[in-house]
Amino acid sequence: MKITDVRCATIKQYPVIRVVTDEGIDGFSQVEFYKPYVKAQLPLYRSILLGQKPTEVERTVRSIRKLGGFKPWGSLVSAIEVALWDIAGKAAGLPIHRLLGGKLRDRVRVYNTGGVGYASPTELRQGSEGFTIAKYATAYHGGEFEKLSGHTIGDWDGGPGRGINRGPLTERGLQHQIEKVYALKEQLGDGIGLAMDCGPGWTLADAIRFAKALEPLNLMWLEDLITGDYSPYTSPGLYRDLTTSTTTPIHTGEQIYLRQNFMDLIEHRAVDVIGPDPLDVGGLAELKWIAEYADLHSISIAPHGIGDGIFGLAALIQVSSTLPQNFIAFECPRIDPPWYDIVQGLPSPVIQDGFVTVGDQPGLGVVFNVEAAKSYLSSDDLDFFD
Ligand SMILES: [Mg+2]
Repeated sequence: MKITDVRCATIKQYPVIRVVTDEGIDGFSQVEFYKPYVKAQLPLYRSILLGQKPTEVERTVRSIRKLGGFKPWGSLVSAIEVALWDIAGKAAGLPIHRLLGGKLRDRVRVYNTGGVGYASPTELRQGSEGFTIAKYATAYHGGEFEKLSGHTIGDWDGGPGRGINRGPLTERGLQHQIEKVYALKEQLGDGIGLAMDCGPGWTLADAIRFAKALEPLNLMWLEDLITGDYSPYTSPGLYRDLTTSTTTPIHTGEQIYLRQNFMDLIEHRAVDVIGPDPLDVGGLAELKWIAEYADLHSISIAPHGIGDGIFGLAALIQVSSTLPQNFIAFECPRIDPPWYDIVQGLPSPVIQDGFVTVGDQPGLGVVFNVEAAKSYLSSDDLDFFD
């Protein structure tokens, strides 16, 4: 079997890629970035990938791995890795989790994430019913300081949509953040764990004061306080200073590409929880390797995920079912939009009691209803399924 084409179309908000082969088996995935980037990059990727054997996943991915980088530049390499596993699974008649060594759990825990959509503690509680863990975006991550004056020292304008996104807090700003987390936890009680997506952009001193003040709440984690998300690097030394100064678990890693870039964080035990995204870190096998290495260092993993894209969800279900016992949950909003009828294979409802059941269908476990999916294609993508 050989790769004959790599195509891209936007279906709902995400670019979906299709790796086409000469044996009628296709692999699908999604890119967590914008279609113009994918379209511009595809000629280069095609020049390397066409003619290669898609079921030799590792060999094929090694030929394109150098084209990636920290988020979002690893997104296309990662998406192709996932699509190759989809092909390998379909060719073998096995789900991807069997190819990765087999699943360790039949259902996977997810945590509720509303992005910045939950405006109040009450809304978070209402939106999190049925989940066991919920995450709330605050501080620089939530764009909160754009609406509040007197909460930050800095006045740097990060540009459209980003506002103030880095710098020291005022005493009032720090106290406001602490009171907010206490109000959230009071609403959730001890039946739903609370994680906070905080930044990046805090100073180390503010981050330490914040984490220590929250210790009585036994939070799941504080995410991306210093670097992460919008910063294309990581700082193991700063994270280790933060982590060793508090009992509140510290989390980062959604922007990191490849295992090499997790090495210092893990070996120095600089964080308590890592959060790679399979569609940014280099793919499913890459994420599994990192999870295993983290487990040896007593570091947990709570993989990042975005939105409601079908193939990102399917990828997270497959790999999360195979991770060791340091797995906490993967990030997932409350979903089941009507347009999910463009595929077959997802459980319905997707999330039951805060978990997703792992299927045994080949590959990623989802198959397009092509006619239904075609209705979402824009005019310049109409040949996507041809
Ligand atoms: Mg995050």
